[in-house]
Amino acid sequence: MRLIDADELKRVVLRAFPPVAYDQALLVGRIIDRMPTIDPVKHGLWIEHKGGDDYIGYPIYECSECGYDAGETATNYCPNCGALMREDGEEG
Ligand SMILES: [Zn+2]
Repeated sequence: MRLIDADELKRVVLRAFPPVAYDQALLVGRIIDRMPTIDPVKHGLWIEHKGGDDYIGYPIYECSECGYDAGETATNYCPNCGALMREDGEEG
């Protein structure tokens, strides 16, 4: 699958059609508007915090995307904002 910018596609279509074909261009624009949208997957990182007054050796994890405090448990995704947490060395 290839994700494209639907709004930019509409602008290009409206410019590409000659003025006499404006109704067809609007129709194509309406078809583009009816296409399903896919939310891009948000990625984040657990920011490790160590220290503090009650530090007993376990880091506290904070979501890099929303600041959610996950306590001592670094899950695969943020339970607050849904960001997928990158593995070490993973690109993205
Ligand atoms: Zn989050």
